Amino acid sequence: MTENSTRLRDGRGREVSYLRLSVTDRCNLACMYCRPRDRVPFIPHRNILRYEEMLDLVSLGRELGIAKLRLTGGEPFARRDLMVFIESILGRYPELDLRITTNATMLAGKPALLAELGVSAINISCDTLDREKYARVTGGDHLAAVRRAIDESLAAGLRVKVNAVALRGINTDEIANFVRLAASAPLDVRFIEFMPMGDGNLWKPENYITAKDVLALAQRMADLVPDRNVHDTGGPAKMYRIAGGLGRFGVISPLSEHFCDTCNRLRITADGKLRTCLFSEREFRLRPLLRNPKLGLPMVRRVIAMALRDKPLGYEVLDPGAAPESRDMSAIGG
Ligand code: SAM
Repeated sequence: MTENSTRLRDGRGREVSYLRLSVTDRCNLACMYCRPRDRVPFIPHRNILRYEEMLDLVSLGRELGIAKLRLTGGEPFARRDLMVFIESILGRYPELDLRITTNATMLAGKPALLAELGVSAINISCDTLDREKYARVTGGDHLAAVRRAIDESLAAGLRVKVNAVALRGINTDEIANFVRLAASAPLDVRFIEFMPMGDGNLWKPENYITAKDVLALAQRMADLVPDRNVHDTGGPAKMYRIAGGLGRFGVISPLSEHFCDTCNRLRITADGKLRTCLFSEREFRLRPLLRNPKLGLPMVRRVIAMALRDKPLGYEVLDPGAAPESRDMSAIGG
């Protein structure tokens, strides 16, 4: 990227137009594969970016050609005034494709306003449709609230994607139920391969199942027809229409069939660290720059340009079977 260009490009020529911004590392759940309870202390509040700082970063992103913004966490709705923040982003940049990834436990009552503000899509993480299992996997008895939030989001006209981490022996026996869910409503269900993130999560080969194997199981339950749809362009999911159904079922395969060649993402953690690759521990500290009036956004812009020169191909830093990354997903923003 040259400093004055309006399109971000990395050192390998990939255009970068998608920013994933983690608004908090805090979460009301403790999913066994993500952030097991009592393990990682939360980041002190003073080190979390303020909304004004995040809005400055979004403005810079827009100048640099960021067209899609995802708010993630931790649990984004666990941060106070998230709705006000969303309103201020979309008030300033109504054309931005703004999406949210959430566990949906605190989403009820908000979808109508989110739709009105112009949010394009909600990704809802839900790994099981069984109440007791949900409580075991996440540490909270919230499945009913999540199901209500899914219904409310659909009723509000939001595009809904339900994401489940594929956990062999934990939710692989529920693939039929997820296919049924996708058939019953105009939403996407995606199974994502379990990634070995964080030092202490339960990743082991026995719990891992490839996207291909998930798909083979799903294909036993329903007639799945590959779908190429405008919403998928650039996205890593492989989606399938279900014969006679309303929604789609699909898989995301970051491990078995990586999509690094087309990666268009930048991540900023809640404490203001820029990451150019989920699987690389290399981080660039933006917060001190943002908080130094002599440096500010012009220096952030330079650091982004520098970081992008070396945006890795994730598979080069990924060693399947070993935790490639010591920070949990909740700290990075999945
Ligand atoms: N709290 C929000 C939620 O639950 O969607 C946003 C943050 S969460 C870290 C984002 C996504 O990362 C969730 O869909 C979660 O399932 C996924 N995730 C976390 N750890 C993972 C892992 N080890 N492998 C694959 N996906 C993971």
